[in-house]
Amino acid sequence: MNRATVTQVDIAIVGGGMVGASLALALAGTAKRVLLIEAVVPDSAHQPSFDERTTALGNGSRRVFETLGVWPRLAAHAGAVTEIRVSDAGRAGAARLTASEQGLEALGYVVPNRQLGLALWQQLAAQPSIAIRNPAQLRELQLDADAAHLRVSTGSNTGTGGGSGSSGTTEIVAARVVVAADGAQSLVRAAAGIAAEIEDYEQVAVVVHVATDLPSAGIAYERFTATGPLAVLPLADGRYTVVWTLAPDRAQQVCALDDGAFGVALQQDFGWRIGRITRVGARATYPLRLSRAESMVGTRAALVGNAAQSLHPVAGQGFNLGLRDAALLAEILAAAADPGAPAVLEQYERRRAVDRRGMIGFTDGLVRLFASDRPCMALGRTLGLALFDLAPGAKRALSRLSWGFGGDTPRLLRGLPVN
Ligand SMILES: Cc1cc2nc3c(=O)[nH]c(=O)nc-3n(C[C@H](O)[C@H](O)[C@H](O)COP(=O)(O)OP(=O)(O)OC[C@H]3O[C@@H](n4cnc5c(N)ncnc54)[C@H](O)[C@@H]3O)c2cc1C
Repeated sequence: MNRATVTQVDIAIVGGGMVGASLALALAGTAKRVLLIEAVVPDSAHQPSFDERTTALGNGSRRVFETLGVWPRLAAHAGAVTEIRVSDAGRAGAARLTASEQGLEALGYVVPNRQLGLALWQQLAAQPSIAIRNPAQLRELQLDADAAHLRVSTGSNTGTGGGSGSSGTTEIVAARVVVAADGAQSLVRAAAGIAAEIEDYEQVAVVVHVATDLPSAGIAYERFTATGPLAVLPLADGRYTVVWTLAPDRAQQVCALDDGAFGVALQQDFGWRIGRITRVGARATYPLRLSRAESMVGTRAALVGNAAQSLHPVAGQGFNLGLRDAALLAEILAAAADPGAPAVLEQYERRRAVDRRGMIGFTDGLVRLFASDRPCMALGRTLGLALFDLAPGAKRALSRLSWGFGGDTPRLLRGLPVN
């Protein structure tokens, strides 16, 4: 790589999606020189992070966004979840978790990803200390013992497909550390030589917004069906967002149906708890796999969010976990004289281990438990849901998951700035 350094920074963040943009904001008040590189403009129809999905934010993530000053931009768009009802299709087992029982205003908040993107990037625009390249794409990365060297193409036609940028300029960046916030197919992770273990669930999530003749009133439903989990979450505007997990061929079939037939098929799998489906929005599909990087750090490199681990959406924990990666990494990097020093990065990996391992295991275990149709597993589920419904301790533990699975609680989750 051409070593003629044009830009010197302490921290280069590659990827300004949900996690990378949050990390940049967390570092905004610190003395570190930060550069954020994002391939797609935040309000583009092709933005892969801020698309038509919604994200269920836990109370821990709400606290982080309050501390970063983002929450006031989001609050009006956030559908509060005051109750969660879990059921196993075709079986008696069911459980209910309510916010009031836990002494909480809400168990979580459902936010459209597009609004999340706008809120994060509007807040970033108000931070002159964060240098931004957007649209700009990392093309090449070389990691040496003393610095990370990035070749970045900045311009109007960079795209994310790995093709060559056409009308832009090339910039060489030297950073003390590069942060991979570039998603599950992370180029930074590959360049750092960090392998990722991938397990294909052979399921596809069909995501769609629906309106019904009973407007949503804070109740979220998680229904485990023979094909996979079906989540129906309340939106702030009275509609619902649906994450319907299906085998790939069935997902293709239902997406090819017209709106009316799609509504009927969905209603057959879900039932009538939300009333009659009256309107069906555009559908988007997401193949589901568990991807887990073997390490969260490499030479002059740290991984956050989907670049570190990408989870099944069954428990709505992927982003919440990634935000805690960002919150703790920001705190550790801000306090370090050399933010890319091996001891600093090892500290990050060590302090994230419990939460990361716990949440990956919890999510994956849930998918496997409810995917099995072996009679003993099905009976275990029925009993498990019934016992859960009677066990205040288990409910309390579940409602506290959004603060992490254990280990370190980052300062931002405690309402404190990173330093
Ligand atoms: C159907 C579905 C529902 C979900 N629901 C929830 C939920 O309710 N709650 C929850 O907590 N999580 C949920 N998740 C998980 C959540 O979406 C992810 O955890 C989150 O998107 C991770 O964000 P990220 O910023 O790490 O990665 P991404 O969202 O993948 O963003 C990566 C960014 O990097 C950019 N980029 C990539 N390569 C380059 C490059 N070379 N140069 C520059 N930029 C680059 C991309 O343009 C993109 O903006 C869900 C996931 C799915 C699939």
